[in-house]
Amino acid sequence: MTNSLTQLLGIQGFVVKAITQERQGLYSRVIVDISRTQQKFICGECGHECSTGIEYRTREIQHLSCWQHLTFLRFKQYRVKCPCCGLKVEALPFFERYSRVSVMLSNLVYQLCKVMTNKAVGIFQGLDDGTVKAIDKEKLQEKQTNRSLDGISALGVDEIFVGGKQCWHMISALDGPRGPELIYIGKGRKEKNLNKFWRWFGPQRTKLIKVGVMDMWKGFFNSFKAHCPGIVILYDKFHVITHLLDALNKVRRQELGRIGKRLKGLLTGKKFVLLSRLAHVRGKARESLNELLCASPRLRKAHLLKESFNHLWSYKSKTWAKKFWLLWKDSLKWTRLKQYDRFVRMVDKHLDGILSYCDHKLPLGFIEGTNLKAKNIIRRAYGYRDDEYMKLKIIQACSSLRFFQPWTVAFNNSE
Ligand SMILES: [Zn+2]
Repeated sequence: MTNSLTQLLGIQGFVVKAITQERQGLYSRVIVDISRTQQKFICGECGHECSTGIEYRTREIQHLSCWQHLTFLRFKQYRVKCPCCGLKVEALPFFERYSRVSVMLSNLVYQLCKVMTNKAVGIFQGLDDGTVKAIDKEKLQEKQTNRSLDGISALGVDEIFVGGKQCWHMISALDGPRGPELIYIGKGRKEKNLNKFWRWFGPQRTKLIKVGVMDMWKGFFNSFKAHCPGIVILYDKFHVITHLLDALNKVRRQELGRIGKRLKGLLTGKKFVLLSRLAHVRGKARESLNELLCASPRLRKAHLLKESFNHLWSYKSKTWAKKFWLLWKDSLKWTRLKQYDRFVRMVDKHLDGILSYCDHKLPLGFIEGTNLKAKNIIRRAYGYRDDEYMKLKIIQACSSLRFFQPWTVAFNNSE
């Protein structure tokens, strides 16, 4: 019997000696006593192999649960007299030094935390919230430290506000080998705040960056210009459009104050349908939008201009895109839409960077998507009170680290 259990357990160099069961609250605990088959000990400090060990203590660590039982492995841990390091505790392949769970269980917990709340993982595996979080955070830190950063030539930077006043910058690789990925989150959005990122990214890789995508914030611009020689700055569509939507919303508010009570009911609460892309407004919302646009010619004009502005990003040539922009500005002339003037000045000032898109077709939607995902995580998880963990969770959700892969070994016949 213990033979087949040894095989099922599949830990090389160890055999199952005995099994005991006990109760722990709602859970049933199974303790599996295992012992080693060879006199082989690895120094926990340097990895040197020693043939003698000094018995040190009995350890019990939690392993993957088996049937309806929480499962624990119990074994003797030894110390070695290492020729290089002296008397040290031995290292074992199935658990990490200070951990109370096996490597296999911590891998599973890390995977489960991608798709479940930490609380649910804790209940499911019989672990307390603190342990689940500690396992998840450590794995995330390890993945973040070891992730590959090669093959990137375009970076995008964006900012996000966390709990009121605090602001973080988020940096994405837009053309990495695994598709667009969020790679870094740091505090602040000033030029000097980004220095830490460049150090982490490395001067060799920094030199290879050809395009920087950003909003019209000066701090980001200066930092990218200072670190990447010959970089092309591209202003992100999502941020340009945001400024236009702000202007349109100002027109709406002005109309709200200008026209009589009759139309007030029509205008209030219509911010969302007015600012959405027309193609996404359907059914009842579309009807009420039409009604609203018929009632206010000024708003209709402003809305029409907002819709047509998107064409700017459909051009393949800068010359034609520029012509389109001049026409768009022209059609604004007789509308007396003062709220759009500031927007026009801003686009004129940054036109080169906006039209850079014609030469560099990058997945610009990615930055907007990242921003939305990050906001969601922050809203849900502000209770973490652990900024480092929250940053890592956002990076995970916006990169290839998010894929759920609970089983890495399907069949195991080690003996
Ligand atoms: Zn050693």
